[in-house]
Amino acid sequence: MAKARIGLIGLGVMGANLALNIAEKGFPVAVHNRTTPAIDAFIAGAGDLADRLVAAPTPAALAAALAPPRAIILMVKAGAPVDATIAALRPHLEPGDIIIDAGNADFNDTRRREAALREAGLAFVGMGVSGGEEGARHGPSIMVGGTAQAFAPIAGIVEAIAACYNGASCAAHLGPDGAGHFVKTVHNGIEYADMQMIAEIYGLLRHAEGRPPARIAALFDEWNGGPLRSYLVEITAKVLAASDPETGLPMVDVIHDCAGQKGTGRWTVIEALRLGQSVPAIEAAVGARVWSAAKDLRLAGEAVLQGPDPTQAGAGLLDADLERALLAARVIGYGQGFSLLAAASGEFGWQLDLVRIAEIWRAGCIIRSALLDDIASAFADPPPGGSLILSLHFAQVLSGNTGALRRVVARAVQAGMPVPVLSAALAWYDTMRRARGTASLIQAQRDFFGAHGFERVDRDGGGYHGPWGG
Ligand code: NAP
Repeated sequence: MAKARIGLIGLGVMGANLALNIAEKGFPVAVHNRTTPAIDAFIAGAGDLADRLVAAPTPAALAAALAPPRAIILMVKAGAPVDATIAALRPHLEPGDIIIDAGNADFNDTRRREAALREAGLAFVGMGVSGGEEGARHGPSIMVGGTAQAFAPIAGIVEAIAACYNGASCAAHLGPDGAGHFVKTVHNGIEYADMQMIAEIYGLLRHAEGRPPARIAALFDEWNGGPLRSYLVEITAKVLAASDPETGLPMVDVIHDCAGQKGTGRWTVIEALRLGQSVPAIEAAVGARVWSAAKDLRLAGEAVLQGPDPTQAGAGLLDADLERALLAARVIGYGQGFSLLAAASGEFGWQLDLVRIAEIWRAGCIIRSALLDDIASAFADPPPGGSLILSLHFAQVLSGNTGALRRVVARAVQAGMPVPVLSAALAWYDTMRRARGTASLIQAQRDFFGAHGFERVDRDGGGYHGPWGG
């Protein structure tokens, strides 16, 4: 059998497109899938690229098709299927071979797998890939974790298949073990927040202002020409402009309003809390998807629970305010995500380069947007506390646009329209701009009922107690 440069297991949506991308860049690929008919069907549909694809009906055949050190990409369903695929592959591998998990793995699993395989003399790379089907085929953003030694033999291929921004590859080796998958997880968390805040703005325009989807599409399209320019705003305009070919109704009206999720948003929130961090815009977005799935409860609630009727109340919102509110909330969403990356970097000793992360998100990935150039610049000159919102540029952006966010949230609340991410973003911003908050009362309460003690503003040290009496 002809030798291939790299192997790939998992010819689902992402794997098939990634294999074609690799082949197109000139690297012969040996491909395998758990269910073998998919392999022949894939190669039969590969057109001109079929010459660069080698069918491997078994893990043994895949290993035989590669010259050591073998490099094999796994693009299978995350979780147990990854462990099952590694177990099937291992007997056919030799020390020095490299397994690359390109799925959306939980970074804790990646750390565990990397350590276990290292013991056995095998290298393991956890590689986050963003950009969906289109990205996988024509250039995703790629976030790599693992040892530099494990990445070196595959760096040329990974950099060649990634998206390009101003001539630079949107692939980077970000740190050891789970660093790449952690960054991908947080990327998805930011994506959840961004998608939900866009949906909230849509909800206000549609249900409070009563505008039809086609007009809202035009507005998003217009916004995509300004500071909100981004993939998500661009596709929102396209989605809202689409009609159902069967009924002629706006496509968005024939889709059930229950959002799915596979776990990366939830993992972002779980890991944030484990690290003692808070990412309220992302948390609100995960919660909103959970609420959306509670369809029966919402159906029952509509008949029973009282509140303002947005169609009657109207929100009286200005388009310019909605645009600026979305911009402010988006900055806050990114800010929370990057703060979480910084916290994880410190905890795990990854030394994540936030500038590089912002750079590789500028093309190929789902959260690519016009803001990322400025985010990269903001981190190049580290802002106070490492916080994006305290960089000179973004502090100004927020000062100039949170007034609109405040008006939008206030009107939404009055109209009875839920805006969980917009309001969570604003509450966080308002908390962060006050040096003295209300937690002195929390500390007093804790001391009252649990004798937890507190620190005083006028003395050093802790362990003080209040005159609660009793
Ligand atoms: P998919 O189309 O559902 O394909 C899943 C692949 O996993 C198939 O090749 C399937 O093989 C294999 N598989 C499932 N269970 C298996 C098992 N127990 N043992 C071995 N192989 C198994 O999924 P996808 O959308 O390509 O996603 C693949 C990975 O990429 C996931 O981790 C996903 O989260 C991640 N990802 C997806 C996207 C996206 O936009 N879709 C974007 C970024 C990352 P069979 O054909 O034999 O069932």
